[in-house]
Amino acid sequence: MSVELLTPRSVLHALKPMGQKTGQVESLTGYFCRLAYSHCMSAAQLARWVLKRNGHEVPSDHKWYLRNFVSVGTETEQWAADISELTSVGNLDYLSLAPWRQFVGVPGLVPKTDRWCPCCFTEDLAAGLDPYLRLAWDVAPVTACLTHKVALTHTCPHCQKSNVRNRASIVVPGYCTACGGFLGDAETDPATPEALWVARQVGSMLADPPSLNENESLADFLSEVISRMGGNVAHFARRLDLSKSGVWYWTKKGGLPTIHAWLAISLHGGVGLDRLLRRGIDGWVPPAEPPQLSLGLPSAPRKGKPSRTLDWEEIAGQLRAILLEGIPVSLEEASARVGLHSKQLNLRATAEARAIADRFQQYRMQRKQEQEDALKKQVGEVLAARVAAGYSGMSVRDLRKEIAGTRMGNVRHAFSIVKQVRDGTN
Ligand SMILES: [Zn+2]
Ligand SMILES: [Zn+2]
Repeated sequence: MSVELLTPRSVLHALKPMGQKTGQVESLTGYFCRLAYSHCMSAAQLARWVLKRNGHEVPSDHKWYLRNFVSVGTETEQWAADISELTSVGNLDYLSLAPWRQFVGVPGLVPKTDRWCPCCFTEDLAAGLDPYLRLAWDVAPVTACLTHKVALTHTCPHCQKSNVRNRASIVVPGYCTACGGFLGDAETDPATPEALWVARQVGSMLADPPSLNENESLADFLSEVISRMGGNVAHFARRLDLSKSGVWYWTKKGGLPTIHAWLAISLHGGVGLDRLLRRGIDGWVPPAEPPQLSLGLPSAPRKGKPSRTLDWEEIAGQLRAILLEGIPVSLEEASARVGLHSKQLNLRATAEARAIADRFQQYRMQRKQEQEDALKKQVGEVLAARVAAGYSGMSVRDLRKEIAGTRMGNVRHAFSIVKQVRDGTN
């Protein structure tokens, strides 16, 4: 693989992030996968190594991809800082949403399913680059690629599975973690004007991370925006279809608007999201007419409800429906789908939670075995052919070349499998 290094003397390779300062900026998740790969490590191994190096206990069932590498929380910031230190590459938090942590609230920010633009992956390959993951794909309201004017996709074109972009121990960005197929092969649908508008706004935002200024009050700024857009909180909330208590909370209690709310302000105010987030509204006069586009954004989840009362019968029913689906999902995935934490499910829907976890565990073991058997067979064949052709052996790199483009053309388990087949211990 082609690796562009910035400094030769860091602990880890000083990989150059892709698409810096553009709407196509790489995500920290993808950067981390490329970094691991450049060291011939799995992402899981690298995550474990970094955590242990910093004195953290790492549980044996640690799943690196359930950690948050792109959101606005402290965990993301910590990962960005740790990887920056080890690679000597600065500002890796720009590959996440962490720079916006004082502006944008968490709800609705990160999508529940991993998405990608197949055309971007295809174009990366055609340009002789390693396919890389874009941060914009991990911003929930973005559903289209602005460059290619197509809708993002979330299922593998080869095995039809979801969440196969980077949720595995070994990840090669651009290839399915379940079947190894190239994710750029997916068919695409044209993007709607609404989706392109959102992609443009978020792209402009990602290209220009804000510098934090603790002294400026966001509440004062938002009050100014509200007054310019019609005067009072009630009128503003109604016009933008936001909850009145939510808007009141921004101005009085330091609440942060969600990304949906920022987009609604941008749309109704006729002001770019990048400009809005930089608070560059000097001379801005919002249009009197309602906007031509309708975002179709979901209303605030708490609108009209004083607080969230959970209907556990309804939730258990949803979980039982998930149990009947063809492809088992993990408890984390099921929890995310019903909008709760797995701990809550374990406490209040114990039977269903246990059944989901058990079913997924069995499924994973079975799939792992099937994949290993198929890969071993293929590695054996490739190795025999190479020995017959006079080579003495085979590295993982050779193997990838040989089986690239086939169903097993990923590197899952490849390291240990090559060793097992080579040593005759399969
Ligand atoms: Zn694209
Ligand atoms: Zn697949």
